[in-house]
Amino acid sequence: MNIRVERTSRPKAKPDWNNLSFGRYYTDHMFVADYTEGSGWHDLRVVPYAPISLDPAAMVLHYAMEVFEGLKAYAAKDGRILLFRPVENARRLNSSATRICMPDFPEDYFLEALKTFVQTEQDWVPREPDTSLYLRPFMIADEPHLGVRVSRQFQMLIIASPVGAYYPEGLNPVRIYLEDEYIRAVRGGTGFTKCGGNYASSLIAQKKAEKLGFTQVLWLDGVEKKYIEEVGTMNVMFRIGDEVITPELGGSILPGVTRSSVMDLLRSWDVKVSERRISIDELYSAARSGDLCESFGTGTAAVISPIGAFSINGELLRVGDGGIGQLSRKLYDTLTGIQWGHLADPFGWTYEIPLK
Ligand SMILES: *Cc1c(COP(=O)(O)O)cnc(C)c1O
Repeated sequence: MNIRVERTSRPKAKPDWNNLSFGRYYTDHMFVADYTEGSGWHDLRVVPYAPISLDPAAMVLHYAMEVFEGLKAYAAKDGRILLFRPVENARRLNSSATRICMPDFPEDYFLEALKTFVQTEQDWVPREPDTSLYLRPFMIADEPHLGVRVSRQFQMLIIASPVGAYYPEGLNPVRIYLEDEYIRAVRGGTGFTKCGGNYASSLIAQKKAEKLGFTQVLWLDGVEKKYIEEVGTMNVMFRIGDEVITPELGGSILPGVTRSSVMDLLRSWDVKVSERRISIDELYSAARSGDLCESFGTGTAAVISPIGAFSINGELLRVGDGGIGQLSRKLYDTLTGIQWGHLADPFGWTYEIPLK
């Protein structure tokens, strides 16, 4: 595979690295590849960042044929640039794509595309504490066609945005609203994929929770509305007594890379971890009896997001003492330590981008 690099003749001014927020700035270049039925992926290239041109009949605009990924490039103190488990993102992209009848983007193409793109943007990987370069690979169906069928033409792109800490004030417990009206996903649907449509349909619940003074929603299963699935766009974990519980994957839950890394870390610390169904009744009883000592969301953007309280049917239930739990803190420090290369990486999770 050959990736052509066309450098911009007009580099942008770099933003204030101490005031990045999330998803506000974009780098100088983007990765693009085209797919046509019959000839497969071709014309892999890194080109100046610019608006893309789409036919108004492009199928992505009408039928939401889009899947995406999210990962970060981290600058270590010694100057190395590190990715975190990018092969997992390559695999998940393809699992999402298969569900939406989009083609595979081969793993070796994905890694090579990331490598060439991040090398081109190496001056855009911020070096301030807690900052990183957020990478957004995504695939769209760009064939012009009105009529629902599988597209014959696709584009794969990667864009990048330098980002600060997801929570500028640092780890801060959030308040969560139990959503009992809207559903995120059901078994047999697309819950296990990162397809754009999932997020469009989740916004209304997010908006409702915010209006009621909460940060995120707690999603229940779509069949019985009884079992906990996810929190906002994160996986969720509960520490009840000495056990850490996370809902088992079953088609409606997104298999997070952070979720799986957290389980590996906890097991390496001899903490009992269970992937199983957990009902809202079990959560409620544990919170009432004081056995619910910690709860947190997991995801690439925030890493670990401690949950301070749940609102369940109008009752506000505190988690532990409402602060940051001991495991939450240790998981955050360890994961971010490995990601930024401050800590040893016994699991072989980091993937170094050779500098140009
Ligand atoms: C991306 C995402 C996650 C977290 O996945 P990570 O790989 O840990 O970033 C969890 N739930 C949903 C719905 C997501 O979109």
